[in-house]
Amino acid sequence: MFTLPALEFEYDALGKYISKDIMELHHSKHHQTYVDKLNAAVDATPELAAVSLDSMLRDLASVPETVRTAVRNHGGGHYNHTLFWQFLSPNDQGEPSGPLADALKAEYGSFQAFVDVFTEKSLAIFGSGWAWLLPDMSIVTTPLQDNPISYGQPEPLIGLDVWEHAYYLDYTYKRADYVAAWWHVANWETAAQRYNSSVAK
Ligand code: MN
Repeated sequence: MFTLPALEFEYDALGKYISKDIMELHHSKHHQTYVDKLNAAVDATPELAAVSLDSMLRDLASVPETVRTAVRNHGGGHYNHTLFWQFLSPNDQGEPSGPLADALKAEYGSFQAFVDVFTEKSLAIFGSGWAWLLPDMSIVTTPLQDNPISYGQPEPLIGLDVWEHAYYLDYTYKRADYVAAWWHVANWETAAQRYNSSVAK
């Protein structure tokens, strides 16, 4: 049984950047629906009972065809949103520090230059998807609820949900305003820890 993880902050904690209404709907309705539909798929498929979600997403071809799309979409949705809540911080952290900051600077020249490229790629996603920073400092995008691990890539350090459900209530069609606001709630402490773990592997 997969379950909805609790947030580490209140729905209203992201204040003017992401509203309480969006956070509540996004977590308690959208994410819950991914959890429910993933559970339904796994319940209907005894061969998946002992398989971790991580393993399913890393090898979707091994998931029985009857539920493969459900696992990809709803399993991916559960996996991505579980990460996404950890990628948000109620405190404006500004920029990363330490080894992650050094790696970003080495790759992009400056943190702002990284922000510009990540923003550009986030805005270029057609329709629903995600933008991700990978441990090699590359920025990749995925459609729908796909995660980079399903493409043989490593676990992302941080990522941004650009589905309209993530911003429409606050920003209507203005994805650029949402992306601009997100930098104020991006959790660089989490990203830095994930970077340090990836380097240690
Ligand atoms: Mn979402």
